[in-house]
Amino acid sequence: MSHTPDYNSPSALNAFLEENDMGMQKKFGQNFLINQTAREKLAEATEIKENTSVWEVGPGLGALTSELLKRSATVTAFEIDRGFSQALATIFTDEIKSNHFSLVTGDFLKTWKTEFQKHGIPDRFFGNLPYNVGAIIIGDLINNGVRFNKSVVTVQKEVALRMEAKPSSKNYSSFSILCQWAYDIYPLMDLSGGSFWPRPNVNSRAVVMNKKENFPGCTHPKHFMNLQRSLFISRRKTIKNNLSRFYKDGDLASAVLEKAKIAPSARAETLSLQTLLNLSDISAEIQNLKVESW
Ligand code: SAM
Repeated sequence: MSHTPDYNSPSALNAFLEENDMGMQKKFGQNFLINQTAREKLAEATEIKENTSVWEVGPGLGALTSELLKRSATVTAFEIDRGFSQALATIFTDEIKSNHFSLVTGDFLKTWKTEFQKHGIPDRFFGNLPYNVGAIIIGDLINNGVRFNKSVVTVQKEVALRMEAKPSSKNYSSFSILCQWAYDIYPLMDLSGGSFWPRPNVNSRAVVMNKKENFPGCTHPKHFMNLQRSLFISRRKTIKNNLSRFYKDGDLASAVLEKAKIAPSARAETLSLQTLLNLSDISAEIQNLKVESW
């Protein structure tokens, strides 16, 4: 293993992989961002100062990592592909020695908690996330009460549309509510397949997620997460129907809806985050739920 590959050139990346006996693994959603302008814009949006700590998911061969390191960040990178991980250890030898770069090899969904227990929450979360698990990664962190001051992530455009969606729009879902509960979300830029190698069949969007101040905004966060998810299980059903199934008790559902002043015939997709938070508080109060620690 030797030089740093030219991150803008598919042929150079391909040659680097061949020289080092590595291949691309489709199952890991490996699409390198070969657009230098986009990489710089992503790093700039992350607003890094000297030694800002960043978790990067899926560094690949380090195209984005190098932008973070150029800006003097301290990066912990989580990479599932062992070959890529070995390559990164060589490409960023100096940064490893100066404690600006460390690697966690394995599935982020299985490794992040240990890193979190050891070092706490970093300032930033960053990544050109693998298409197949991008939404799962974002959801897993919020579901566990972990939020970063700022996150900049590139995801499949459909996932970004769900993250940003407003009530009564077709993309509004329990994932929209989860994301908007925890963060203010802004689109940064759209990226077509041509910005990546190999070229994916989907478009991507980079989004900025800024931590919300008034989180969690309800008395029982876990109850809220379960309740709001259950309301979208049968999207076309009324809120009364979905809530009755959640409680296994139609009368309780009616009482909670009445106190929350929500029509039983309403559908969850029309309700704002604030209305759902209020519904959760009333639901917890009527059931006398114990106050939760996160
Ligand atoms: N950051 C590089 C870039 O932009 O050129 C590569 C991005 S590529 C879309 C996604 C990366 O995530 C790949 O390197 C892949 O091996 C890695 N990956 C996929 N699933 C992962 C997981 N569960 N945990 C950690 N890394 C993962």
